[in-house]
Amino acid sequence: MKDLTKVVHHPEVDRTGFASLAVPTHRASTIVFPTARAYAERRDREPDGYAYGLGGTPTTRTLEAQMSALEQGEGTIILPSGQAAIAILFVTVLAPGDTVLIPDNVYPQVRTLCTEVLARQGIAHRVYPPLVGSGIEAFLDDTVQLIWTESPGSGTMEVEDLPAIVAVARRHGILTGCDNTWATPLLFKPLAIGMDFAMEALTKYVSGHSDVLLGSITVRDPEWHRRLRSCARTLGIGVSPDDCALALRGLETLGVRIAHIGRVSTGIAMALREHPAVLRMLHPALPECPGHASWDRDFAGASGVFSIVLRADLDPFLDEALAAIRIFRIGASWGGTSSLLAPMTLQGRLDTAIAGERRIVRVSIGLEDAEDLMEDLTRVLDHLVELADVRAR
Ligand SMILES: *Cc1c(COP(=O)(O)O)cnc(C)c1O
Repeated sequence: MKDLTKVVHHPEVDRTGFASLAVPTHRASTIVFPTARAYAERRDREPDGYAYGLGGTPTTRTLEAQMSALEQGEGTIILPSGQAAIAILFVTVLAPGDTVLIPDNVYPQVRTLCTEVLARQGIAHRVYPPLVGSGIEAFLDDTVQLIWTESPGSGTMEVEDLPAIVAVARRHGILTGCDNTWATPLLFKPLAIGMDFAMEALTKYVSGHSDVLLGSITVRDPEWHRRLRSCARTLGIGVSPDDCALALRGLETLGVRIAHIGRVSTGIAMALREHPAVLRMLHPALPECPGHASWDRDFAGASGVFSIVLRADLDPFLDEALAAIRIFRIGASWGGTSSLLAPMTLQGRLDTAIAGERRIVRVSIGLEDAEDLMEDLTRVLDHLVELADVRAR
């Protein structure tokens, strides 16, 4: 073998005795086959075998298997973002003439997916109030194929009565899916209550360090696993094994992070609910959060995202008051180690008694010292009241 061949072909090395706790990052576009026949029959390896890099490598499979185990499902596919996971699921499940039901507090890009992309494919959507429960029946007709849920929902944090929705859906043979990003499979398992699809934005708590975008869909029926895999592949959508390796690393500490963050977020929400700047604290663990009883019954605990509805007269001063933060940062895509605040503007929501256009502050608790965080939030809220007082004089 000459040098120019030697530089291309890596030597086989002995791996006996090598045992590591880390999951190796296997990168690949090309997969090679031992024989021409094996190559000709490569499609027989689907959905989970290795035929082409786009379908994943052993690193991807490890993350998939770990999510399947945590969600108690029959298969998982990993997509490039949480939004991509939702989009692939909707596109796989829904056909022209079908309708999907989405909650009013859904992750905003899901509504855009429905209005901008699916509508043009002849797929309709209808919006239901998050606290609808078994009243979801009134939203059904023969075209409804999928009921999408998100609990607690984005921004206003209403917790849905998912078992009631599942009972109605099953009676009518309609599929159900849940965006479980807030709870992670450690605090709630959608498939265990009879849902068909559990979706996670792995970008958030699972990866946990604000440096990766990934999403997952776990299914109870292997046939959907096959169809989702095929749809993603056909659309040319795959994920980087390096990103999967980062998610696998994040997953190892998910338990301690969620337990700690849930404790701190609940403590802060309880302490600040009486602050004069606060009209309403929207934290699923507090009784005043819409759907709290469902959270109490169905969830194993709280994570770290909640929202503060301000006294209406303080809304105009929010942006200015946020300049007082020292520990929190301003930004979206929560679930990392840094605590974040996101000022949001909401149009009235169906279930939250938020009338008209209102500002809310979404809080994501990270891993900084709890007293520092409490002090920082208190400073912002105090400053808000001061600004309004000065302006009123
Ligand atoms: C962030 C988020 C998504 C989207 O995840 P990306 O990975 O950012 O695309 C979906 N649902 C919820 C509830 C989210 O918070």
